[in-house]
Amino acid sequence: MLRPTPSDSLAIDPLSGEFADRGTESAYLSHHLEATRAQLAFTLLFCTLYFLGFFATDLAALGMVPDTALLLGARVLVAATAGSCAWLAWRRPLPVAATRMAASVAEVVALACFMFIAVHRPGEFHWHAMSLAIMVLVIYLYIPNRLAYALAIAATATAGFLILTLAWAGMGFADLLTLGMLLALVNTFGALAARRYNAALREEYRGRRIQQHAAERDHLTGCYNRRHLHEKLMGPASGPLAVILCDIDNFKGVNDTHGHAAGDAVLLRFSRLLQGVVREGLDSVVRYGGEEFLVILPGTGLDEAVRLAEWLRSRFGAAPVNTGPGAPPVDATASFGVAAAAPGSSASLEALIDAADKLMYTAKRNGRDRVEALALPALPLAAAA
Ligand code: GH3
Ligand code: MG
Ligand code: MG
Repeated sequence: MLRPTPSDSLAIDPLSGEFADRGTESAYLSHHLEATRAQLAFTLLFCTLYFLGFFATDLAALGMVPDTALLLGARVLVAATAGSCAWLAWRRPLPVAATRMAASVAEVVALACFMFIAVHRPGEFHWHAMSLAIMVLVIYLYIPNRLAYALAIAATATAGFLILTLAWAGMGFADLLTLGMLLALVNTFGALAARRYNAALREEYRGRRIQQHAAERDHLTGCYNRRHLHEKLMGPASGPLAVILCDIDNFKGVNDTHGHAAGDAVLLRFSRLLQGVVREGLDSVVRYGGEEFLVILPGTGLDEAVRLAEWLRSRFGAAPVNTGPGAPPVDATASFGVAAAAPGSSASLEALIDAADKLMYTAKRNGRDRVEALALPALPLAAAA
């Protein structure tokens, strides 16, 4: 499959503020996981302390009655749940789904206990409404969770609270209406702010991804450039490794006969063929020179790499390249040099590229449109180190 360019996969969904592409969204979430876990732990710890601290208001409102002990029990339950979730988020390498689960569990338990406390202090529903508004904002903006889950939890709690108010508070219609509208307002602006925050964080990530893409890839073909090869890919090989160095045959003639635009179309077709066969996230295709490409195949032996090069050679030469409307199709072939470390040896990437380069020139000398291959002589591992 062709690797998408950043603009294809970095679109942000206007409704949720998340990346529309699921792969990009999950890459973003993994990238952010460390920060998310810290934010979750810190916020839950903070909320736990406040929830416990508010026991002082139970005491002040009710005095020392049996109900007070019940309310303390509810507060301790919230503290134990949220505290455990905070501890897990902080100490365990929770995956993204588990951090969301921890956030949701803490939110649901805290809201349920809050309702329980509210019905035991029925004369103070105005204050309870204020507490709920604050809790709802904390859920939308501070506890890291998926917006859809936060919205479901906060909206359900708000509806539940309005039903309780109707049943327990004995409020008049005007009070109830005001309360309902204010809580709807808090939910609306909380969700909108969360959406904006989601989108802002992703915009920043998108900017970094686009910059990184521009710095490490070739503008025309989207393949890695030489800078990326030297900065990120070079180095001692760990395990089997094969490289294919390929060069389009008589390419200067394509430019001279059909023009530069046709030459570019041939380059694109060839690079897409290469990018289409490599394994995503494992192999690398580098634009090594003008019409020269390097394919790096970790964990691959010589036979497999030769098979791949032969397939690429026959596929590229099989059909002329379409160079645009009205322009004649252009016949093109390529020559390939394939080098791999022989089993038991530890050839470096540099040595393999050097060998593949020489083999590619041998293919040119031997008539072009060919594959030449060689396994680098096995060196005893100890001597090679
Ligand atoms: P050989 O079979 O020996 O490889 O011959 P060749 O003509 O392919 O090799 P040569 O090195 O003489 O020519 C390479 C040409 O590639 C020259 C250069 O103008 C052209 N080229 C390099 N980069 C680009 C590019 O981005 N677009 C186009 N259209 N041409 C390019
Ligand atoms: Mg060439
Ligand atoms: Mg060349």
